[in-house]
Amino acid sequence: MTTTPLLAVEAIEVRYDGAILAVDGVSLQVGQGQVVALLGANGAGKSTTLKAISGLLGAARGSLVRGAIRYAGQDLAGQSADARVRAGLVQVLEGRHCFGRLSVEENLLSGGFVRRLGRAAQREELERIYAWFPRLAGKRRQLAGLTSGGEQQMIALSRALMARPRLLLLDEPSMGLAPLLVEEIFASVARLNREEGLSVLMAEQNSAIALDYAHQAFVLESGRVVQSGVPGTGLTREAVQAAYLGVG
Ligand code: ATP
Repeated sequence: MTTTPLLAVEAIEVRYDGAILAVDGVSLQVGQGQVVALLGANGAGKSTTLKAISGLLGAARGSLVRGAIRYAGQDLAGQSADARVRAGLVQVLEGRHCFGRLSVEENLLSGGFVRRLGRAAQREELERIYAWFPRLAGKRRQLAGLTSGGEQQMIALSRALMARPRLLLLDEPSMGLAPLLVEEIFASVARLNREEGLSVLMAEQNSAIALDYAHQAFVLESGRVVQSGVPGTGLTREAVQAAYLGVG
């Protein structure tokens, strides 16, 4: 018996401005409860793939010109980004997008708007998030723009968690962070996966850390999947490095 994966990306092709081919026939799957890494060098098509899934391509003048994306068995064609968020498909954009002039807590609250929670439910959600990220609890009234890079990544992640995702799309969570903070962020994601059953698709250039945490990985090169497998068995660090260098 085969079970339907939570996410199935089927031979998608994405173009920008109706011309530039950024993703060229990518297929990948995320099973329920899995952490899946999407690896590849700068410009390989990772962010574009994530945006195709979350429905955010339009803002970058990109469009899905071929293929299909199924989430929980449903074809996402024609579904707005908002509708996808309400269905539990939530993206954390690359570059730790926070509202710098809002407090940490206001940033988190903005992530929960789609759920239209009452005040008591909002508080409950906030406390749930602060338990996950105690660092943020101590800084709840501080302006997000004045927190450290690692804290801003936690804010971006927490804001997404306020929407109660079933599948979290994480774009380069390690970018620009010191190694210890990278470990802390990945460890939090792993705990969310283990303890709350959160499924995760994460795009990463840092293949070493991503392979440590992923159950499955796909390697992109020039918009195509060139390798995939289970880290450590089918997919070794050396093979992934070779793909990055274009000799895989
Ligand atoms: P990075 O880590 O640098 O974001 P990536 O693997 O996520 O790399 P993408 O950002 O998806 O790669 O880019 C894939 C290709 O599409 C690249 O050639 C890039 O130049 C191009 N591209 C990305 N965004 C746009 C855009 N808004 N308009 C035109 N071309 C774009």
